[in-house]
Amino acid sequence: MTALTLPASSDCAPAPRAVLRERGQREVFCGLTGIIWLHRKVQDAFFLVVGSRTCAHLLQSAAGVMVFAEPRFGTAIIEERDLAGMVDCNAELDRVVDRLLARRPDIKLLFLVGSCPSEVIKLDLSRAAQRLSLKHTGATRVLNYSGSGIETTFTEGEDACLAALVPELAETTRGAAPELMIVGALPDVVEDQFLRLFAQLGIPRVHSFPARRAGAMPPVGPNTRFLLAQPFLGETARALEDRGAVRLDALFPFGAEGTTAWLHAAAVAFGIDEMHFRAVIAPGRERAKRAIAHARDRLGGKSIFFLPDSQLELPLARFLAQELGMVPLEVGTPYLHRAHMARELALLPAETVISEGQDVDRQLDRVRAARPDLTVCGLGLANPLEAEGLTTKWAIELVFSPIHGFDQAGDLADLFARPLRRRDVLKV
Ligand code: SF4
Repeated sequence: MTALTLPASSDCAPAPRAVLRERGQREVFCGLTGIIWLHRKVQDAFFLVVGSRTCAHLLQSAAGVMVFAEPRFGTAIIEERDLAGMVDCNAELDRVVDRLLARRPDIKLLFLVGSCPSEVIKLDLSRAAQRLSLKHTGATRVLNYSGSGIETTFTEGEDACLAALVPELAETTRGAAPELMIVGALPDVVEDQFLRLFAQLGIPRVHSFPARRAGAMPPVGPNTRFLLAQPFLGETARALEDRGAVRLDALFPFGAEGTTAWLHAAAVAFGIDEMHFRAVIAPGRERAKRAIAHARDRLGGKSIFFLPDSQLELPLARFLAQELGMVPLEVGTPYLHRAHMARELALLPAETVISEGQDVDRQLDRVRAARPDLTVCGLGLANPLEAEGLTTKWAIELVFSPIHGFDQAGDLADLFARPLRRRDVLKV
């Protein structure tokens, strides 16, 4: 058995870390990408992108392997005549939505998702959503958010979507007992693992946000205590806090240590006995440690460079440094939420450069100078870097794979070990 180390509950704030801020050209997917996992999560929702053929191609190629008899996302394509102002876009949009909802009465929650073209022509999707919600009252709720590449990067689409849902949540009963909310779209299998653990711990009312169905979204209020499952939900957290909910500060649930700390934050908030907590989590924690151990030989001492992409970078670098002995040289993140990331930052080696935003050419110069053993980056940068002899990992895989919690910790470690294994095999 390995010793169980729990996070210190000290209030001493570590000295703020220096952050390299970059504001140049960036190479990141837009927020529309979030639809790929959100449409699988909320099963009676539909995501209607109001965009161009480029947006439709992005979604189709990113979700290309999945074929649905009744898909849960689509694109209302803005044509040239719309852009030229020759037609009434609002009337066209109403017509598309009416036709969609007449054909698909199973849609209970419709998101109008803004894109670059709808931003450019200043199509007011929030007014359209209000108008269409009134028209379809009782059958379908219509909301809107932006996934435009002008306004959002990659995972910010989920943040914008969930933030748009928060005002729709019912109010919890005044004076009711505290309830726990897990915030962030997780694969169902991972969500179920966490719900089982919280039940074993003895936390009685645990909700997931988003829920799997539109009608089952959790209530929120001052008795809500929430744990962020994803590190890219700054706007959602703020919207929940505006409704009186209280964020439980914790590491993110990656690896044995991150998952332990995340669960522990809830256990402390709900007054769970420490010995009981240790007994409940011990089997999962041990499984995670054993599963991680096999990757340690390959990853220990290896250097890694994260280009900014998904906002998962900081917690993943902490996991790799803390539990696998990797050496993060630079960890880039599109945005740095200092409060949500404080615990993660405190556990990263002091020598690691933290960068926020991107100036892709300068960052690539630093990658070339450092020649890390592994570079985590977007698809567009991976091939050129591989051609220069650098080993890369696609950041997008980390978003699409189940990586949270004890039972996924081994797979998470393996996602980083695999490119190095492949490199070694190719060298022989
Ligand atoms: S929203 Fe903008 S960046 Fe995203 S696919 Fe459409 S045009 Fe491209």
